[in-house]
Amino acid sequence: MPAKNHVHKYEFIILGKGNNFHVFRCAFPDCSHYIQRKLGFGKLTVCWGCGREFTLTKKHRQKRPTCGCRAKKNIHVETVSQVDQDAILAAINSMKG
Ligand SMILES: [Zn+2]
Ligand SMILES: [Zn+2]
Repeated sequence: MPAKNHVHKYEFIILGKGNNFHVFRCAFPDCSHYIQRKLGFGKLTVCWGCGREFTLTKKHRQKRPTCGCRAKKNIHVETVSQVDQDAILAAINSMKG
């Protein structure tokens, strides 16, 4: 699933020693797309509830954002393991510039 050929299904994760590095990652199994949270706002994503596309905004604070079709109260955002963090941070750093 090449990154350019689909709308990413963003999942919100928190990285960093102070848990202060906020990132969206694409949940599709074959996609390794990551983006800083603040850069994800305004981008299309796929709803975790109904699968429709919608635009992420700062109002979408859930771990798994929905378009509003299922207004479930979310679930706290999990942190990921250190190994995963290192891999993700490396991926993000490689995208800079
Ligand atoms: Zn993707
Ligand atoms: Zn929806």
